[in-house]
Amino acid sequence: MIHIIGGGLAGSEAAWQAASQGVPVTLYEMRPARPTAVHKTDRLAELVCSNSFRGDKLDNAVGLLKEEMRRLGSLIMRAAEASRVPAGAALAVDRERFAALVTSAVAEHPLISLVRQELTSIPSSSAAAPVIVATGPLTSDALSADVARLVGGEHLYFYDAISPIVSAETVDHGKVFRQSRWDRSLRTAGAACGVDDGEGDYLNCPLTREEYERFHDALVHAESATLHDFDTERFFEGCLPIEVMAHRGVDTLRFGPMKPVGLTDPRTGREPYAAVQLRQDNIAGDHVSLVGFQTQIKWSEQARVLRLIPGLEQVEFVRFGMVHRNTYINGPTVLAETWQARRDPTLFFAGQMSGVEGYVESAASGLIAGLNAAALASGRGVSAPPRTTAIGALAYYVSHANPGHYEPSNITFGIMEPLPHPPKSKAARKLELSRRALEALAVWIDGRGLGRPGAGGGEPALDGEGAGRAGVGPRA
Ligand SMILES: Cc1cc2nc3c(=O)[nH]c(=O)nc-3n(C[C@H](O)[C@H](O)[C@H](O)COP(=O)(O)OP(=O)(O)OC[C@H]3O[C@@H](n4cnc5c(N)ncnc54)[C@H](O)[C@@H]3O)c2cc1C
Repeated sequence: MIHIIGGGLAGSEAAWQAASQGVPVTLYEMRPARPTAVHKTDRLAELVCSNSFRGDKLDNAVGLLKEEMRRLGSLIMRAAEASRVPAGAALAVDRERFAALVTSAVAEHPLISLVRQELTSIPSSSAAAPVIVATGPLTSDALSADVARLVGGEHLYFYDAISPIVSAETVDHGKVFRQSRWDRSLRTAGAACGVDDGEGDYLNCPLTREEYERFHDALVHAESATLHDFDTERFFEGCLPIEVMAHRGVDTLRFGPMKPVGLTDPRTGREPYAAVQLRQDNIAGDHVSLVGFQTQIKWSEQARVLRLIPGLEQVEFVRFGMVHRNTYINGPTVLAETWQARRDPTLFFAGQMSGVEGYVESAASGLIAGLNAAALASGRGVSAPPRTTAIGALAYYVSHANPGHYEPSNITFGIMEPLPHPPKSKAARKLELSRRALEALAVWIDGRGLGRPGAGGGEPALDGEGAGRAGVGPRA
């Protein structure tokens, strides 16, 4: 028997996977009795914002992740296919139909008991009865307190303060210089927000007084993104958005994330008036983030204002900055690659709570957590897919990234194991990574005895999965 808390994308997928392995599951979902600030229905796997599962081709990492999930018999992928709406190269769904399909598939599965109840503490777990916590970014307060007790308060976060990420090759390297503050490797305070300047190598964008004042002026006049209810709570003082700091005074940023102390611009031999630091953001080194630059200004405004920084005039944005409510653990400190807690392997975390980012990534983590919890409950060995797969790379990132400035990540080719002999062209490289991943996954599936005769073969069909298969029920 497995207990799963939270019937979102991760919890529903985990329940389905474990039940598909023949292990009974009790799935606890607190809605509708206790709502969240953003969910609107009582359905499982409700999509709280966009209706897109992003790119669906193999030249794109999330397209690869989805293909791997299909091959692993993912319920979320099957429901998405059955509720697909036209969206070009992306997989987008009719959200009502999608959530209804997941809800009926889970609720009607003979091995899953769906209990509509808020759990205020994590039930005790054992190898025979493992527990998966999949309560998402809006985990209820009581359960959050219990997770904090279990993992240590310093390893649980309540807000995402996300700095923008840009493509490294679009930075003007003639204007920036590489240097660590004070030229030494020293961790400093402020690490909660990623402002741990001094550690490792940084690219520095120096600003003159005139450039700084022009940037400051643009920032205080930039349009802010609309605040949701859940965003109105107080920010952590150590993770203030840059526009909030800018409004406090013209020099506040110069004493915060734009401080120049300890830096020497090689072109002038002097400390710049202000500086923005860029830190490598992925293993491949083709993404860099703007250190301490979390922001809530509108994405179009971010592009305009941040391109005023010398060296960033032509940058391409990989991800814009954000600040929003997000409950998640520090994955590298708490988790093993199998999504088990290091301190208690009978306890699993999955979904956004485990430190991944996005609908697909949340469901993917639930998929492996569900399989491994089922293996544990049946006395079989747990394992993680290889790092050459997207689903394995995600698990590796969550359990091995630098815990000092951990941020939840989407799947990208940059976190996958690099190719030993990468083709020169970017497009060929991506396709080769995908080809290798699917080959490695097939071997892993065989090794685990997970081979399925087809998408969901032998499992209940979902409404709309194909002609003559309407309704939920065992397949003919
Ligand atoms: C406002 C917002 C917008 C987002 N927009 C996007 C987007 O557009 N695209 C994207 O890819 N990702 C988005 N995300 C990120 C993330 O991918 C989604 O939040 C995703 O739903 C996470 O899946 P999950 O299963 O981890 O959590 P959820 O889908 O939130 O599921 C968790 C479930 O646990 C339940 N629960 C919570 N506490 C308890 C408890 N104590 N007992 C029982 N049940 C409990 C909740 O009611 C919920 O149903 C967004 C996140 C937020 C907060």
